[in-house]
Amino acid sequence: MKRVVVLGSTGSIGESALRVIEALPKQLQVVGLAAERSIDRLLEQAERYGVTKVAVANPAAAELFTRQAPPNIAVFSGADGIAELAAIDEADIVLCAVVGVSGLRPVMTALQSGTDVALATKEVLVAAGKTVMETAAKNGARILPVDSEHNAIFQCIDGKPKESIKRIILTASGGPFAQQPKIDFGSVSVNEALSHPRWNMGKKVTVDSATLMNKGLEIMEAHWLFDIPLDSIDVVIHPESIIHSLVEFTDGSMLAQLSLPDMRFAIQHTLTYPERMDGGLPTLNLIKAGALHFQEPDEDKFPCLRLARQVAKTGGTLPAVLSAANEVAVQKFLDGKISFSGIWETIESVINEHSVTADPTMDDVIAADSWARKTAGEM
Ligand code: MG
Repeated sequence: MKRVVVLGSTGSIGESALRVIEALPKQLQVVGLAAERSIDRLLEQAERYGVTKVAVANPAAAELFTRQAPPNIAVFSGADGIAELAAIDEADIVLCAVVGVSGLRPVMTALQSGTDVALATKEVLVAAGKTVMETAAKNGARILPVDSEHNAIFQCIDGKPKESIKRIILTASGGPFAQQPKIDFGSVSVNEALSHPRWNMGKKVTVDSATLMNKGLEIMEAHWLFDIPLDSIDVVIHPESIIHSLVEFTDGSMLAQLSLPDMRFAIQHTLTYPERMDGGLPTLNLIKAGALHFQEPDEDKFPCLRLARQVAKTGGTLPAVLSAANEVAVQKFLDGKISFSGIWETIESVINEHSVTADPTMDDVIAADSWARKTAGEM
């Protein structure tokens, strides 16, 4: 029996994780839940799974939750509470699916307690990949990737020596706009950006997917997770989202991982690893899937990919700045305050204004993140 803490349990990945856990009742058990502010849903989840340790990130919502929850539920409040819940003794694995860099602290406290982390929040590695990976290694904890591409790569590598890997190929669905030959990004609506053709995901990652910033962040995520040089990480548009990524080895062979586009595959893999179990997930029918297509991403049409590559090369505090500026810009777009192309215009202005600190400490990363949020917010 593996005991799981789910951070971000009321979001898209969190809900999928609970379905995975429910489908494997003899193997998996929830022992902690955390959410930002959706306390009604959180209470339903706690009662359904008999969870007695619950964290609420928003302090006012935490107070309200404490008043509504039965006395046997211990409530952890605020960012400190989330970090504390991530470090509880009874957790065998912490699934981190909170939005953005707020995942950094709880991931660090989990790793420092020697607890494995199933990581969906890629911004954690984008902002502080070096420190996070070193902390995992030092404490004998593993980071198991929930992001579908990285989970695919993890499955393909499967312990093979790093020297045998020539290249990683991240597949990208391309979002709603890659297949449209001509598009005015100044007038794209929020609804258009949120109508992803393949994946059903949270709003932030869906917009990132439409700008291709998601793939830019994933290049950095892959670099840290697998210790692969940035130049050996390629991106290919694969609109069907059946192949979740590929690894090319030195002998020229390529391995790929395939499944239907459903996040439960990657989630279940991380939670049951190294075992494989039948969690009742839908089988991929290759005949029905039919033809699979691949094309080169257009970096002129999607400047976020180019920006992310430049930022990744510079490194230091700049990836944290890019990620934070992107979080703010995406929220502004969702709130109707800037246009779709305003997302990358904002990010580019913020990264151009930043004085980079090379080889940053955790404090440098947090300071760069705050600076980028403030700067992007004022633009
Ligand atoms: Mg992904």
